[in-house]
Amino acid sequence: MLTDQEIAMYTRRLEAERERLLKEIGVDSEPHNQGNDVTKAGDEEADEAEDFSNKLAIAQTLRDEVQEIDAALEKIRKGTYGNCEKCGLEIPKPLLSIAPESILCEKCKLETERN
Ligand SMILES: [Zn+2]
Repeated sequence: MLTDQEIAMYTRRLEAERERLLKEIGVDSEPHNQGNDVTKAGDEEADEAEDFSNKLAIAQTLRDEVQEIDAALEKIRKGTYGNCEKCGLEIPKPLLSIAPESILCEKCKLETERN
């Protein structure tokens, strides 16, 4: 079982990481740039297209990470954080401290990734 202190610590880590990822994606929690006056000079269009698709791929990865964090935060709210979403066993603390967004134990994670 996790103590309240541990859960509070993981919550802070998850929220900080979530904020960092959202900033990286370019979504600010506070909308401040309401104007839609973004213009781009298209000098090297091919390069830009490639750059753009790379950015999309990175943004997708970052969004997946945000989703994992959201799922972990949801588990904290439900009071099931620290237990595997699939088999219900406790997730080992060393794993949580490396990856606080873990919602599956190592065994279930491996099984999910294999599929
Ligand atoms: Zn499991």
